[in-house]
Formats: sequence, C-alpha cells, structure tokens
Amino acid sequence: MKVLKFGGTSVGSIENICNVKNIINDREKKIVVLSAMSGTTNQLVAITNNIARKEPDEAIAKINMLRETYDVTIDKLLINKGLNKEVKDYVSGVFSFLVSCTYKAFSKSLENNIVAQGELLSTFMFNCYLKQEGINSTLLPALNFMRIDKDKEPDISYIKQHFDSAVSAVGNSEIYITQGFICLDDNDEVSNLQRGGSDYTATIIGAAIKAEEVQIWTDIDGMHNNDPRYVENTKPISNLSFDEAAELAYFGAKILHPQTVTPIRADNIPLRLKNTMNPDAHGTLISNITSENGIKAIAAKDNIIAIKIKSARMLQAHGFLKKVFEIFETYKTSIDMITTSEVAVSLTIDDDRNLDKIIEELEKIATIEVDKNQSIVCLVGHSVVNHDDTYKLFQILQDVKIRMISYGGSKNNISLLIDTKDKINSLQKLNDYLFELVTL
Ligand code: ADP
Ligand code: ASP
Ligand code: MG
Repeated sequence: MKVLKFGGTSVGSIENICNVKNIINDREKKIVVLSAMSGTTNQLVAITNNIARKEPDEAIAKINMLRETYDVTIDKLLINKGLNKEVKDYVSGVFSFLVSCTYKAFSKSLENNIVAQGELLSTFMFNCYLKQEGINSTLLPALNFMRIDKDKEPDISYIKQHFDSAVSAVGNSEIYITQGFICLDDNDEVSNLQRGGSDYTATIIGAAIKAEEVQIWTDIDGMHNNDPRYVENTKPISNLSFDEAAELAYFGAKILHPQTVTPIRADNIPLRLKNTMNPDAHGTLISNITSENGIKAIAAKDNIIAIKIKSARMLQAHGFLKKVFEIFETYKTSIDMITTSEVAVSLTIDDDRNLDKIIEELEKIATIEVDKNQSIVCLVGHSVVNHDDTYKLFQILQDVKIRMISYGGSKNNISLLIDTKDKINSLQKLNDYLFELVTL
C-alpha cells in the first residue's frame, strides 16, 4: 500500500482540492495524510499567542475571520445539501471550541488542542467531499494511533499496534484519510510533530505499515538544488539518496520536515516528492540508490547560535570536551557543528531555550563568546568532500566572512557558518558558480 501526503497548498483552494481528488482516485487502496489548509495553522498559532497575552478580543476577531474562509470554501466545495450541512455542523463545533478557549488560561495543552484543529477541519471536509464525488473513503483519526514518547520521538511499536486496530475499527475502505501533524504524547494528551510535521506523519505511517512507497505532494516539482524562496534559477533534482535528502531536510530545505527521512530509511521505503499542481512532472525520488558524485544541492538553516569556548588549559586537559558536552547533554540541547583549535572549541546550537543556563555552566570552566543571527549553509551531494568542485568554495565566497567550517563529518555534507545577513548573497553565488550558470 502507498501513503500519500498532501500539504497545506494542496488542500488550500477548491482547484487544488479537486487536483488531489483526481490524483488519489485510481482505485488503488491507499492512506492519504492531509495537512491543514494553508494559512490555518499560522492563524491558530496567532490565536494562541493572543490568548497567552490575554487578548480575547483579538483572538475572537481572528477566529471569526478564519471561520468566514471556511464557510466560503464549504459552500463552493460541497454542493450536496446534506453533506454541506454535515461539514458546517462539524466546523461550527470546532469554532465554538476555539471561542471557548479565549476565556481559558493559557497552557501548552490548550495551545496543542487549538493548533490540532486545522488538520481535523481539513480531513473532515475532504472526506465529505470525496463522499459527494462517489469515492469510497473513510476517516482514520490520527489520535487513535499516532503517539510520541517522553523524548518526543514517535512510539513506533505503539503506532504499529494501534494503527491496525484503528483500521479495524473504521472498517474496510479504498481510501483512508488521516490527519498529519497531530498525535498524542506519553500522557495521552494532544500534541504534535512540530511545524511542517505532516511529512513526518506520512513516513512514520509508511514505516509502521511497511508501505510500498511514501509520496509527499506539495506546491513545487520536487527538491530543488537550492532554496527557491531566496535564489533565482533553481532546478528540481530527480534522484537523491536517503543520506542526501536527510542532510538537506535537517539543514533547512523547507520542503521536508527535518526528520522525514528517518523512519523509512532502514526499511528502504522509497519517498517521492511530487507537485499537486503539475502531477506529470517527475519530481524527486529519494531511495537508497546513490547517483553521481559532487555538489547536488544547497540548503540553509537560520537562527543558529555560535558559542566559542576558550580555555588556556584545554590542550593538556583531557576530559575538557567531555565536561563541555555534558553541559549540553544536561540541558538536552543538540549541537550541529563543531570545530576545535589548541585553545578553543566553537560549536553551534539552534535551540536557545536553555542558552542562559548553558552559558552560566560553561563560564565555570572557560571564557565564552556567543554570536547570534548565524546561518548554516550546507552543501550536499554524494562524496561531496572528495569532489573537485570543493576547492572552488573559498574562491566563490571570498567576500563572505566564514565563521566555521565542517568538512569530513560525513562524505555527503560540507557546512559553512556565516552571518545570516550574508545568506541570500552566498546562496545565490554558490548557485551561480557551482551549478555552472556562471564560470569563475
Ligand atoms: P507543504 O505545505 O506542501 O508542506 P511547504 O511550504 O512545507 O509545503 O514546502 C514546500 C516549499 O518549500 C516550496 O514551496 C519552497 O518554497 C520551499 N523550499 C525550500 N527549500 C526548497 C528546496 N530545496 N526545494 C524545493 N522547495 C523548497
Ligand atoms: N499544519 C502544520 C503546519 O502548518 C503541519 C504541516 O503542514 O505539515 O505546520
Ligand atoms: Mg511542509
């Protein structure tokens, strides 16, 4: 069986919803994972921010605006009166719940319950639309099987077991529609897989059912060789290995949630990235096949903090790095890049939740310098570190201040740390020269 995930834009307009219907209506049994309609999760997050700041009137104004967009979409999409009413009743329930939240005290649990509504709305609406179109589909509630453990990792054995029971409970169907992003936590409270998490839902389900293939349908013809939001003349890449795709996703290629590749890699389940608005385009196939060497793609990750830890006693003092790492371990903060010299170690983190406490601890053993607003630019490709093009990097970026370099950590990745203000210029230059749009 295949798992097909459709993102926010794919379910964000009548035309695209119709495209999704045509793509999935091929008489093959499948699981369909949907995101919230584009813009909805952002609005729900903004509403929770108003509630946290005790601004109920602002929250209610946003809830009313969002409701209006749903009412308009439902009237266009559901022309069958009975189904139109069924969806409107459901949507009314959701919006009454949101209004009731504006009078409650803010908590993480309230926030999680509010942001979960986007996927609940889109799946309910889409399932009724398929019924109207005479397609055999059934809703499979994600909260009946999707769960994370105390470390916020997917609880795969729970998911495997409960997925089968969830399917048995709803009965046989050609298409099962389920919510991306949302899940239960280890206390059975509503939680989520972080922003963009519907991609992760799809590969977690793919791994749980040993799917034949997972497909991620979005608004672009697959993974491009650079970030199309900032760079001109980017191109889709037809094939990537799991390792290459995992590096790109982790280092900022927004088309994939950072963890998307993890669940399916060990079982060698292919992942295809496709464009809902252009289904005939090849897209990108991610598999265990490694094609040509050299730099295939570039991604960038923002909001990076660089920490320089300087100690005159470092060179002779074995155990110094152990002490440093233990501090990050205590505060469950993962390190992305690291370089060392005789007297200092520089490293980067992207999670600043415990930064103050980490600095306080580090200052007991060393002198600390912190640089914020940094970006990691990551160059990815098979055996990229051995490729002839690699020597060009410094020449191309001669005007950019490179703060750190990570080379050789893996064969597939070279990472550079730069100031975020230099990011767009660096990405464009690397694109132009490395992909030979311009010669040096
Ligand atoms: P969805 O809502 O379908 O999950 P996303 O917005 O999360 O879609 O991801 C698709 C977007 O990712 C594209 O529209 C594009 O702007 C952005 N993106 C960033 N880097 C890349 C890349 N390397 N290749 C393709 N798209 C990328
Ligand atoms: N709706 C969620 C978000 O906007 C999850 C997703 O789209 O993947 O982050
Ligand atoms: Mg996404």
